[in-house]
Amino acid sequence: MARSYLHEARRKVGPKRARIRPVIERLAVEHADAAIALRFRSPLELLVSVMLSAQTTDVNVNRVTERLFVKYKRPEDYLAVPVEELERDIFQTGFFRQKAKSLRGTMQILIDDYSGEVPDDFDALLRLPGVARKTANVVSAERGHAQGVVVDTHVRRLSQRLGFTREEDPVKIERDLMRLVPREDWARFPHLLIWHGRRVCDARRPACEDCVIADLCPSSRVDVVPYVSGVRATSSPPSSS
Ligand code: SF4
Repeated sequence: MARSYLHEARRKVGPKRARIRPVIERLAVEHADAAIALRFRSPLELLVSVMLSAQTTDVNVNRVTERLFVKYKRPEDYLAVPVEELERDIFQTGFFRQKAKSLRGTMQILIDDYSGEVPDDFDALLRLPGVARKTANVVSAERGHAQGVVVDTHVRRLSQRLGFTREEDPVKIERDLMRLVPREDWARFPHLLIWHGRRVCDARRPACEDCVIADLCPSSRVDVVPYVSGVRATSSPPSSS
C-alpha cells in the first residue's frame, strides 16, 4: 500500500484511541466463542500446555497432553522418569529436548520454592526455565490477572493492519497495545484478534468484504459504509485504479 494512500486511509478511519473500543465490542460479538484453544484443568496443566505450544499448533499440543496429563499429574512426576522418557512423551510437539529440559527445570523450582504450585506472581513465572514473556502473559491472563497483552503472529499482523502499532518487535508491539487497550480487556483482546485473524483477516488473503471492522481499519481493501449491528460494514469491491 502506497505511503500517501495509507496516510489517507488512516485519516479516514480516525485516531486509534477512538477506534479501539468499537473494534473490541464488534469483535466480541462476532467471535463470542473466542477463547484459548489449549485444553487444561489446572494451573500446572495450563503452564505445561503453554510451554509445549512454542513452535507448534494448539491442536498438536492438545493431542499430546491428552495422554501426557494422565501420566504426569504433579511436578514430581516429570522428575520421576528418565529425561529420555519425558522427551518421548512430548516428542510430537517438536523441540522436545529443549522442552523436556525446561519442563524438568521448572518442576524442580515449583517443588523447591512454591510447594509444587504454580506461582501467581508474574515475575516469578518469568524466572522459570523456558518461560518467556508470552508464556507468562498467557498463564496470567487465563488465571484472571493479565499483566500484559499476549502478542503472537495474529496479534502482531492485525495490530499492524489496524494501525494500532507500527512496530515489528513483539515487546514493542505489546507496549503499544498496553497503552491503547483498556486494562480490563488485556486478557480477551488477543483472543479476539487471534480468532479474527484465523477466520477473516488471513495473512495472505484478508476477507475485508466479510469483516465487521472494515470501516475502522486503515488497511481495508474495500469501500465501506458505516457499521450497523448485524450488518456487514462493506459495500463494494475496491476499484482497480
Ligand atoms: S478490513 Fe481487512 S485488513 Fe482490516 S481487519 Fe478486516 S480483514 Fe483485516
